Amino acid sequence: MYSLLYPDMFISSLFHLEPELLLQRGIKNILFDLDNTIVPRDKPKFEQAVEEWLNNLLNLGFRVAIVSNNSPQRVNSLAGPLNVPAVNRAIKPMKKAFKTGITILNAAPENTAVLGDQIFTDILGGNRLGLFTILVVPLEGKEFWATSLLNRRLERLVIKKIERRTAGKSGCFLLK
Ligand SMILES: [Mg+2]
Repeated sequence: MYSLLYPDMFISSLFHLEPELLLQRGIKNILFDLDNTIVPRDKPKFEQAVEEWLNNLLNLGFRVAIVSNNSPQRVNSLAGPLNVPAVNRAIKPMKKAFKTGITILNAAPENTAVLGDQIFTDILGGNRLGLFTILVVPLEGKEFWATSLLNRRLERLVIKKIERRTAGKSGCFLLK
């Protein structure tokens, strides 16, 4: 169980992702979590910097989709203007929505990454399907993790182990 909670990569911010590390591993498709990963949970639109960052990934040849547990209203209102395909009410960590995302992108598990802020939905779900999993610090920050995970022992263990590996530094870290 524990190994299924551990990501392949850790990034301290979206902007620290090193796309070439993904390309080196043959990863050309990314399934993004929405809330607290690319947009704050309580915000109705993307920050311009995030939009530019996503467009940069598209320009590098990545294909991206959003896989979110949130409602069709919220997911479509954000994904629509970006012109990025999206799966809503995903019920992550169930596999079905990830599989749908892979199909939409005409991708395969071995060339697809999941990028999200939650260990028990994004990382567990991605690892169960054999996808490359990327854990990002939530947009609300490390303090948010620290408080929201107080009673969630396994997640705290994962984050502690990552902090030992990264020595608490910012950046993009391959963990496996
Ligand atoms: Mg999230």
